[in-house]
Amino acid sequence: MKPRELSGEIAGQEWLIRFARLRGKAAGWCEYDKHKILVDTKLSGVPLLETIVHEVLHAEFPWLTEASVTESAADIAKILAAVGYSLEGEEDVA
Ligand SMILES: [Zn+2]
Repeated sequence: MKPRELSGEIAGQEWLIRFARLRGKAAGWCEYDKHKILVDTKLSGVPLLETIVHEVLHAEFPWLTEASVTESAADIAKILAAVGYSLEGEEDVA
């Protein structure tokens, strides 16, 4: 089962990662000023992994373009899935 909220350090700062239902088409949000990442609870498997990586990349490297973050997150999630990484409670990753 996914945690609803957890905190962690990103680029030397404390960030909050919250899992919640998000309105609209976004799978995730990075609220840089609030040091908060939101991830949609409807996601699972590789899309969930990719969204977490995507939003952490925004937090870590705020100067990167959306296209760079999108491409990098997709590549990282694909490689992690290929080497067998899976999220706790998730069985459809990889
Ligand atoms: Zn983005």
